[in-house]
Amino acid sequence: MPDATLSPAAIEVVALTKRYAQGRPAVDGIDLRIDGGSYCCLLGPSGCGKSTTLRMIAGHESVTSGDVLLDDRNITDLPAAERGTAMMFQSFALFPHLSALDNVAFSLKMKGIAKAERHRRAQDLLERVAMGHLAQRKPAEMSGGQQQRVALARALITQPRVLLLDEPLSALDPFLRIQMRAELRRWQKELGLTFIHVTHSQEEAMALADTMVVMNHGVIEQAGPPREVYNHPVNEFVARFMGGHNVIDTPAGKVGVRTDHVQVLPPGHAATGEAASLPAVVTDVEYQGTYVLLGLQKAGAALAAHATAEYAAMLPESTYAAQPFQVGESVQMCWAPQRAHALA
Ligand code: ADP
Ligand code: MG
Repeated sequence: MPDATLSPAAIEVVALTKRYAQGRPAVDGIDLRIDGGSYCCLLGPSGCGKSTTLRMIAGHESVTSGDVLLDDRNITDLPAAERGTAMMFQSFALFPHLSALDNVAFSLKMKGIAKAERHRRAQDLLERVAMGHLAQRKPAEMSGGQQQRVALARALITQPRVLLLDEPLSALDPFLRIQMRAELRRWQKELGLTFIHVTHSQEEAMALADTMVVMNHGVIEQAGPPREVYNHPVNEFVARFMGGHNVIDTPAGKVGVRTDHVQVLPPGHAATGEAASLPAVVTDVEYQGTYVLLGLQKAGAALAAHATAEYAAMLPESTYAAQPFQVGESVQMCWAPQRAHALA
């Protein structure tokens, strides 16, 4: 946009709580600060309170207790339209009978802004998301990706300082979803806005976020950069939810070990270097291209038919080719002690 009106704001929530009914609150006293201009993903299983948190930030849901601050200004009791936040809805929420231009201009029309002015501003925004040449198209005449860009432009027309996105990619097919998440990330960087994006996909959150916030049962289990959360999950829930980790009981307590940090050896073979080990049985072997995923179960445990593997090891294809294993074979899982992280 020619006028430099998009400036990012930080969001802070303090002891934010939402109680819909008796019993456990949907959001239970969370504290979180999201830096201005950063990409934050709220991540967690269905029902953990992500959307409720986002809607309280947006002003679409009342707060039971606690506060929402935008750049240190308390916006908890402001109406949605006066907060400096905007929600981007999924592309299918576009009005089918309106052109891209009129979809984007819609909220300005509601505010009574004259046609020439609202069309000028909508056109500017469409140019900004590389859709200027398709301004007269209706949603049905656009690809899924193009609709997504129009949905973004429509959210930006109110000049928000924070853009809120609730599962914006979940209606797209897997291929388009990966393409559009790269676009979202690029737009966020180019616009320099604060994005708060709700998803239940850890892969999506890791691909997008500067900060990911892992929620469960209305509380924050862990917040940090994706690499930190992935490599140092603080507890068993985060390790399991992020995936790619084994949670192993040791005499010193539960530890997390990444599946690609596990060596699998025939019984009696010594691991290279100092290693902890666990006798195990191979329960399945999955070829996945660049690596082979072994499912494993602790030796001695009764092997139920169709049991899901308790542990996994991700072996590079060449490692597996040099030393293949069969289902039912006894092995040892080995890992270097410094690869094991204590879990709460
Ligand atoms: P998520 O987005 O993480 O899937 P939600 O924030 O939508 O979770 O929901 C959190 C909890 O609050 C769930 O148990 C859900 O059933 C409940 N909930 C959400 N919205 C309402 C509502 N409007 N009325 C009553 N309960 C609700
Ligand atoms: Mg939700």
